[in-house]
Amino acid sequence: MRCLWYDCNARGCIPFCNISSPMKADSWISAWQFCPIFNHQADAFHPQKGRRTVLAKFDKHRYPSVHRGIVCAALQALRLEAHPAAQRFSEQDAAILIEEAAAPDHIGDRQQGRGLHYYNSVKPDGSVLPLHPATGGYCNGKGAPAPSPLTVLDAEYRTALALRRAGKDDASMRSLSRAVHMLADICCPPHSSSLTYFSFYGAAHKRYESRAADIFWDSPPEQLDESAASMKWAEQAVGKIPYQTYVNLLCGSVPVSGKEWQTGTLPKICNTLAQSGASHLEAVLGSDETVREQSIRARLTVSISNCAALLAAFDRDLTEDNPAILREQHPYWLKSFNTAFVVSRSPFYLHFAEDGTVAFVTQEGKALGISRFGRVLLTLPNADLHTQFRIGREPLLTLYPDGDQDKLLAHIRGQLHCIRRVSNLQGNLFLSQVSFALVNQPPDSARFLF
Ligand SMILES: [Zn+2]
Ligand SMILES: [Zn+2]
Repeated sequence: MRCLWYDCNARGCIPFCNISSPMKADSWISAWQFCPIFNHQADAFHPQKGRRTVLAKFDKHRYPSVHRGIVCAALQALRLEAHPAAQRFSEQDAAILIEEAAAPDHIGDRQQGRGLHYYNSVKPDGSVLPLHPATGGYCNGKGAPAPSPLTVLDAEYRTALALRRAGKDDASMRSLSRAVHMLADICCPPHSSSLTYFSFYGAAHKRYESRAADIFWDSPPEQLDESAASMKWAEQAVGKIPYQTYVNLLCGSVPVSGKEWQTGTLPKICNTLAQSGASHLEAVLGSDETVREQSIRARLTVSISNCAALLAAFDRDLTEDNPAILREQHPYWLKSFNTAFVVSRSPFYLHFAEDGTVAFVTQEGKALGISRFGRVLLTLPNADLHTQFRIGREPLLTLYPDGDQDKLLAHIRGQLHCIRRVSNLQGNLFLSQVSFALVNQPPDSARFLF
């Protein structure tokens, strides 16, 4: 067989690496391990030792996404533990959870985008990155606090609860699956150590995940039984599911005084996972395949047990009469945070659609909408208006018109605007982007915009 590096030869990178190997012909990675210059190549990713050489070729599509396997194993682990949450998910629910698991990585998906699936607690050289003062979490691969795996996880989890309450079960499972995806990404060391796909470290990232796919699925692709492969991992997670850590998930980050924010439950969970993932930096960048395999096995188990705990929390948060879950038959006022502005005098009622979006409609049938020119209006729905939103949280409520993650509904000096996200924000979030709260009571001494 050809060595993994053979193709580099064509580009003149590694002229001495055209070897034959007695290894299994079906494994790129096993060929790579036995390449005589493997150690030299691995050092190329090392921040202290390395210099850029070539990108390895990894066959990403040899196996299904590991995200599918993680969801499948998390559901199986709940069943193996006979946890009551296992009853919550019907066969159809489980099928949707698994089917949607990799969707946020697909090109063109509303949550796909360069750097958005990173939750970086360290730089590639191991130096520690700061927590964001408002979100209480780390920034994404672009150095921005949102959208990040934390803010998307928070928003999708809340949306999933609201959708389930609204009877939109399929949409609810799609949102929950996206929340699980973000949690699994945070557990993956390259995603918490700034080893971005588009950077110098992209090849080390791909090598780690490609190896993870080999280890997770562990069978010839043509004979793969996803459920049987996942079951082996579910058994590993039994007894390790941190149910208690996932209590009070809806207790989000809130401002306490001045510019101080109190960190919510999810940022704390995500930060701990990102920090423990970052301690595997050497296993990702280094040349020792045994260390790498140990790291992958450990992180996959952490990922599955945490995702199982999130699924169990979903069940528990739904069971309790939880006022934090947004409801359809309930009046809400959309209030600008920290100012007296309220969007409308008459309350809004939420209407969730099958695609997981939500409309804000008054009793008179007027809807919150955005014109083609970015003006926010309250009017009878018409063809020129976008009236469907997605709920975001970064860390307070944010509305995304039409689910476009780059456009936010913002309140600026008493006006409502649909604005483009200010990218690469450092330090404090641009507060006018995050200033909404849905309140249950008509606010006192309010100034109404509509
Ligand atoms: Zn991802
Ligand atoms: Zn990745």
